[in-house]
Amino acid sequence: MSIAIQQNSFSTRGKRSLGQPIGTLMAAAIRYPNLVSLAAGFVDNASLPCEAVTDCVKNVLADSARLRKTLQYDSAAGNAQLRESLADWSYRDYPAAKPSIDRIIVGAGSNQLLHLIADTMFDQGDIVLAAAPTYFVYMGTLRAMGVRVVGVKADEDGMCMESLQSELERLAAKGEAHRVKAIYSVTDFDNPSGSTLSLERREELLEIARNWRASHSPVLIVSDNAYQHLRYTGESLPPLLSLADDAAEFVIELGTFSKSFAPGIRVGWGVFPESIVDYLLGVKSSIDFGSPHFGQAIMDEVIRSGAWEAHQPGLLATYRTKLAATLNALDAEASTLPGVTWRKPEGGLYVWLNLPEQMDASETGDLWKAATEEGVLYVPGHHCFPSEGQPILRNTIRLSFGVLGPDKLADGVQRLARAIRAVSRIS
Ligand code: PMP
Repeated sequence: MSIAIQQNSFSTRGKRSLGQPIGTLMAAAIRYPNLVSLAAGFVDNASLPCEAVTDCVKNVLADSARLRKTLQYDSAAGNAQLRESLADWSYRDYPAAKPSIDRIIVGAGSNQLLHLIADTMFDQGDIVLAAAPTYFVYMGTLRAMGVRVVGVKADEDGMCMESLQSELERLAAKGEAHRVKAIYSVTDFDNPSGSTLSLERREELLEIARNWRASHSPVLIVSDNAYQHLRYTGESLPPLLSLADDAAEFVIELGTFSKSFAPGIRVGWGVFPESIVDYLLGVKSSIDFGSPHFGQAIMDEVIRSGAWEAHQPGLLATYRTKLAATLNALDAEASTLPGVTWRKPEGGLYVWLNLPEQMDASETGDLWKAATEEGVLYVPGHHCFPSEGQPILRNTIRLSFGVLGPDKLADGVQRLARAIRAVSRIS
């Protein structure tokens, strides 16, 4: 006789994790395969580096001693050779910030490291400050753990530092300073808003965290650099760790090869303050003794052989064209729609739209219905807003331009504009 699984069979975290928006959106994409999806967060399929990876795999397989090592367990922190490569490569333009390999942990994608940070550092009731809007998958992770995410106002230049300061002061005034554990920032070409934290604000962010640490609690900055390499115009900005000598004590920087190379290899990395590494490794050891070693060996070969570097110009040209197609279509289709505005990012994979104030873009609102009837999917922006600190704007949406070709992107934007027009007439 089988015994039915009941609600109380699940942990609190399991129950809180059910129905994450990412799952719902993926299900919608599968349910309506003919819809033009401006929602999917996948990368461009045609430019995945099939040949380069084939060559790198062959090189790893051809050396039997290396292959034997690759097929064995390795350390929880990840393969030492890859960590050496990452130490040399990831701060090559900022040699003073080059980390020792003891501060680097490799994960199965940077998402695993975001999760690991939460698991190791945050308890139920702790507080993380983040831009409003921010990366909704991480917000889901934090919420499932009972961590409060407090929103900070953000604009084209990323998180507003006056707002960060005033949210911190508000929390201190309520006697909650000791619960403030981290400030989470998607520093370049933010998911979802496409904005990049300006140099001035990077410096202010470090200063605010430094002061808070001196007067209240040992807050960390988690700088999620997932889109760092996807810049199509303008000059790169220095990473936080390169901006101050003491940043290594309280800044975590996360990187990933998912966007600039291939997400399927699942290699991400983090550079951590020395003081927290042993704790992170303790938790990581209890999960997996180290992330899959084979992908790490491939990525090491990719970096050392120059295959990563060689892949970038074509990839950036592809995305530059796609971003231009999306922005041109918006100019042509949406610039005359009252109350519709959007940010023009210099990189990344997303364009963030503001709609007329009364328009509800959520799955229960009129626009979602009209858009699916028109045959287009988007990410409703309200998923990306923390539940505290700032208002949740339901009149916002995230468009992804990573997957579709320029024509399909233009088609998707046309459909969306028709849906907005139709809903504007109703309301
Ligand atoms: N951070 C941000 C902001 C992201 O958008 C993503 C992927 N969508 C990740 C982290 C995780 O990516 P991965 O695990 O593939 O490195």
